[in-house]
Amino acid sequence: MKGAPLRLVQYGLVNSYLVAEDDGFTLVDAGLPGLERSVKRIVKSTGRPLKRITLTHGHTDHFGAVDTLKAADPHLEILVGTEDRRLLAERGCRTLPTHVLKDGDRVGSLLVIATPGHSPGHVAYYDERNGALYAGDTFVNVPRLHVASELSMVFPLPTFGTHDPAQTVRSARLLLDIPARFLAAGHGPVLTDPLPAMRRAVEAAERSRDGSPVPRMVAGAVGRLTSVVTSAGTALQQRVFRKH
Ligand SMILES: [Zn+2]
Repeated sequence: MKGAPLRLVQYGLVNSYLVAEDDGFTLVDAGLPGLERSVKRIVKSTGRPLKRITLTHGHTDHFGAVDTLKAADPHLEILVGTEDRRLLAERGCRTLPTHVLKDGDRVGSLLVIATPGHSPGHVAYYDERNGALYAGDTFVNVPRLHVASELSMVFPLPTFGTHDPAQTVRSARLLLDIPARFLAAGHGPVLTDPLPAMRRAVEAAERSRDGSPVPRMVAGAVGRLTSVVTSAGTALQQRVFRKH
């Protein structure tokens, strides 16, 4: 397994990834409803079964196909960071995780790295075999790489959905220690040799957090408000994505 991550993309914006293991595939994040069709197509064409879905976090645009895929295969393992177990249920996922994850755990070949901030139990995954870092929404690569705490008017949803902006920046800095060859974020294209861009993004986020307290207060308030709104907002969020 030397190549770039196998990215499944919906509406040009929402990513999930298939990771090949000896026993079959691990799906990192499960996108929006409908992703199951792409997954089933690849499973059929490769003859490799889907063994597990492991989530970076419990937001609706990352667990959309969990219920359908689990209903099709009751043996499917579902994994999520410990602190996001409750969030998953609150946001409308009917499937209960089969395992919860903490920093340092392994999911097949993937090393679990706790990266709380965007959500309380957010995790990243690192695959040493090809150097792929599946970073979820700590970094967002739309329209260019930035930390989720930094508002982009092109694609503001990850910033609005961020639980704790300051903690997100600290988690992003932590990921600079990982010798990533690929950065596979939750939104936007995969980056090759991403560390210089990741470092620039972290430094920009730290600068803006050290600066005026106003953006910090606005981001915090918007984040809290959005978490209330999005807890009832799966359909709305999907409508927004469909427009893209
Ligand atoms: Zn997301």
